[in-house]
Amino acid sequence: MWLYLCIIISVIYVITRFSLSKFRLSGRTIKGTLSRLEKEHYNTYHDVELQKTSTKVMQIDHLIVSTYGIFILKICDKKGLIEGTEHGDYWTNNLAKKRKFPNPLKQCKQQARFLREILHVPITHIVVFSPLAQLKIDVNSHVVYVAQLVKTIHDYDKEIFTDVKLQEVRAAIENYRIKSEEKKTRIYNVKEILEERKRLVAANICPKCGSALVVREGKRRAFKGCSRYPKCNFKHGI
Ligand SMILES: [Zn+2]
Repeated sequence: MWLYLCIIISVIYVITRFSLSKFRLSGRTIKGTLSRLEKEHYNTYHDVELQKTSTKVMQIDHLIVSTYGIFILKICDKKGLIEGTEHGDYWTNNLAKKRKFPNPLKQCKQQARFLREILHVPITHIVVFSPLAQLKIDVNSHVVYVAQLVKTIHDYDKEIFTDVKLQEVRAAIENYRIKSEEKKTRIYNVKEILEERKRLVAANICPKCGSALVVREGKRRAFKGCSRYPKCNFKHGI
């Protein structure tokens, strides 16, 4: 009887150890965890891309907008002992080949700063770690295990935004957000530009200035170059 019990217990132990060591802190895990937040009070955004400047895009893993505050999450899927401080440039991890990795708080704070600028509201930043990490850190900011995430957010229980303010915040996010439609058009445009360029080169027309292209001998091989060289330096290998 005892033998059976021992065998069953060891099997369960091995299975849980095995599945835990395979645990990954993926976007789906976080989404699942955040689904425990009450939908009527919390809006969650996942994988948000915001247009920072005309050329720079800021990518935010998870953003939570609520009457209790706005929270920005940075996910860190690392295992093993993690050591770090609030302001250090790097943190260390004893399991990774490269022991050093950039302080995740810094990136999170940078994102929070940008959001604060565009939304004009305070932002709370939270770095979230896998249960397989062993945190040994000296920080004032929230650096938590995924199991503590919902509680950390619920700890902010005072209503600080009115409905009107929240609507403004959501509108501002939408305003800066790059929609998936736009992402598609951007890719489509690049494809179109490249195809048009190919078509022009094949017809011996310079895609840069519209002049004729001529075949020239290069050091290694021939190429099509603009007939207006050196005024136009378009080149295309053949
Ligand atoms: Zn040209």
